[in-house]
Amino acid sequence: MKNQKSTRRTFLQNSSLVLLGAGLSEKNLLIPQSETDRQDTPKIKEYRRLGRTGAMVSDIGSGIPYNETVLKAVLNAGVNFIETSESYSNGRNETMIGNVIKNFEREKLFIATKANPEYRIFKSADDIIRRTEESLGRLQTDYIDLYMIHQAQNLVAVKNDYFHRACDTLKKNGKIRFTGLSCHGTSWYEEPKESLEDILMAAVEDTRFDVLLIPYNFLSPEMGERVLNACKEKDIGTMIMKSNPVEALEYYDNIVRRGEELGHTDQKDYDKLKSLMENAGRFFELYNMTDIEQIKDGAIQFILTNKNVGTICCRFRNFSDIEKYVKLSGTTINDRIAKILFDFKEYLGFLNCRIGCNICEQACPHRIPVNTIMRYNYYFQSQKMEKEAMQYYHQLKSAKPGLCNHCEGCCEMACPYGVATQSLLTIAHENLSFNDPFLT
Ligand code: SF4
Ligand code: SF4
Repeated sequence: MKNQKSTRRTFLQNSSLVLLGAGLSEKNLLIPQSETDRQDTPKIKEYRRLGRTGAMVSDIGSGIPYNETVLKAVLNAGVNFIETSESYSNGRNETMIGNVIKNFEREKLFIATKANPEYRIFKSADDIIRRTEESLGRLQTDYIDLYMIHQAQNLVAVKNDYFHRACDTLKKNGKIRFTGLSCHGTSWYEEPKESLEDILMAAVEDTRFDVLLIPYNFLSPEMGERVLNACKEKDIGTMIMKSNPVEALEYYDNIVRRGEELGHTDQKDYDKLKSLMENAGRFFELYNMTDIEQIKDGAIQFILTNKNVGTICCRFRNFSDIEKYVKLSGTTINDRIAKILFDFKEYLGFLNCRIGCNICEQACPHRIPVNTIMRYNYYFQSQKMEKEAMQYYHQLKSAKPGLCNHCEGCCEMACPYGVATQSLLTIAHENLSFNDPFLT
């Protein structure tokens, strides 16, 4: 039962929601006017209701801000949703956000941060409350709009009593307004019990989470759409990650156009990947494509077309990213782009491991966590988070794909999507363990 007696909390809920929901498109959202608020920069055109929080958030949100200058410009473009975590750069990402948002009208922003049980285990409710206070200090704010469990790995994490008790206290004290949960995938090799979908659906059924952070993209949308529909039923807000699984042209350029070797990739794997890439070249010729920006735009529009989506967490690394993402606000996919995405999946789907899938891991004699490693490589290649990706990989307590060169590729035979698993794992290993003396 919600505590309606808390005046501070009631104030936070009522005043912020009204302000967030009213007139965002009619007046300048934020105070600072600077060189980052250029007149020719596109502005956010659509704000969506974030489920039962009632907040109206920009359909294009900011996932893990990159630096202060870019974040200022992102906010001045009308983005009002920022997502981070205590664990990103050991809290420095929160500090960077704090340095920016202190100069903006706080009540017009929606700030989500997360407590990560992998980064530091949840020792008690008091421990989580202490961590929230630390986040508040770094963010230089009196309250966090959305406080989340970061990367729930199993059903036990969804029900974590420490987290829920801490959140009850934090809400009563006006330190947080809403609670949420994210799940990127499971440690299936350690605990082959629950799938990503099981965990997200359990969070929906739990009733205590106001918002979920959900992986969803055009390559394998079915799971995401089931979770989004379930969230809609319970009026749970939704944030989307892993929206853009597109890194094809780089492979095509390297392998086909430049004929580059791929590090330690076995010759037979390399030849196979090369032949697949040459075949995929027909896709680029068909659409006369010299870059894949329109596919990346289409991937975002595919998600925006789903009205059960609240906001997409986009990573703005520079001013070009602001142009690229913000101009998509308020748009939806058209038939031509839908056809391009369909063909991309047909021709180049073999380059992307599907979100939350663990099917082939059961076939691996070494229990290599294929999906997790592919996800880390996605951070490395697509999101350009090389350092973090290598750190995650280094911490992974499992067999690594250094073993794949001597295997017949049972995982690849088991993959229903035709992913070139063996070659991609070898490339991922090369990327993620580069110069790491602890990995072979
Ligand atoms: S190639 Fe073999 S060792 Fe490597 S992940 Fe696949 S099944 Fe496992
Ligand atoms: S390689 Fe295929 S079967 Fe294996 S996790 Fe990825 S999508 Fe699933």
